[in-house]
Amino acid sequence: MLVVMRSGATPEEVQRVVGTIEEMGYQARPMPGEQRTAIGLVGNDGRVDGSRILALPGVAEVIHVTKPYKQVSREWRAENTIVTIAPGVAFGGDAVHVIAGPCSVESEQQILAAARAVKAAGATALRGGAFKPRSSPYSFQGLGRKGLELLALAKRETGLPVVTEALDEAGANMVAEYADCLQIGARNMQNYSLLRAAGRIGKPVLLKRGMSATITDLLLSAEYILAEGNGQVILCERGIRSFDTMTRNLFDLTAIPLVQRLSHLPIIGDPSHGTGLRDKVTPVGRAAIAAGADGLMVEVHPEPDRARSDGAQSLYPDQFASLMSELRAIAQAIGRTVGTLPQGINPPPKGTPAVGAV
Ligand code: PEP
Ligand code: MN
Repeated sequence: MLVVMRSGATPEEVQRVVGTIEEMGYQARPMPGEQRTAIGLVGNDGRVDGSRILALPGVAEVIHVTKPYKQVSREWRAENTIVTIAPGVAFGGDAVHVIAGPCSVESEQQILAAARAVKAAGATALRGGAFKPRSSPYSFQGLGRKGLELLALAKRETGLPVVTEALDEAGANMVAEYADCLQIGARNMQNYSLLRAAGRIGKPVLLKRGMSATITDLLLSAEYILAEGNGQVILCERGIRSFDTMTRNLFDLTAIPLVQRLSHLPIIGDPSHGTGLRDKVTPVGRAAIAAGADGLMVEVHPEPDRARSDGAQSLYPDQFASLMSELRAIAQAIGRTVGTLPQGINPPPKGTPAVGAV
């Protein structure tokens, strides 16, 4: 339920609503706005009788949130949420941002070459897994903390903020020491203890759609993070399993405008996992931006043929540079821009500590 106060409602009137919600056994989340304050009621698993609150002074209206995901829904918040992972790198506004880098961090030389190449082409964040969720236990599992340290080194060298995956609660705390944005991958989209941990940590989260998850499932998973008080969530469409084995996954383009109607959270597209095929990444990436995505996540490797994971879907740096210039034209055609790193923060001065992020 959402309690909308009249414009000009006094702080005492807002406090009285908060107190009443708490007396009724729920939690209150006041959200001051430019025009007026709204107070969210959470903790209910069903319809709440709003008549007692409607009668309080200063209350304009009581809105029942009909969706099972409450704080994630557009009913809860009409304006887009902007998720800022580093100064100037904000998802959900007019600018679209591209996160790029290899599937896995493999070596210092590899991650530095990847970071420099994607930065030169216009990416504004670096990706790379240090903890890899692999289908086979015998496949490369990532470099762990060493991989995080290499990401921090690449950040120092280029100024690119880092997006990297955490697989479990303990790992999330470690990843948060290094990352600007924690990635929760498709296989963990319904790992509720990990979602809660990411919510408590409070850093921006990139939440990828599970390979068999409905859009409602995705939004409910995001709700776990918001329910812990962390509203900084970027959603990611990365393809779902289909009966057709021609592609690794079926990229659900419609998910982008659907999610934007249902939720105020930003959504980006991952055409790399969404197709699994290098020559399909560029057309599907273009389509995602044309469909209104707030950004992309793209796998790029300096030598895809030597990649320890996902080489077949990783772009060569020159292919990525072409994609970026095409995205600029597409963004412009729909009244958006491709975001750039602010001047002066890239790269940060030598000697900036690797750990601690923003
Ligand atoms: C990844 O981003 O490297 C990854 C493992 O993606 P997903 O969780 O979408 O499969
Ligand atoms: Mn990958």
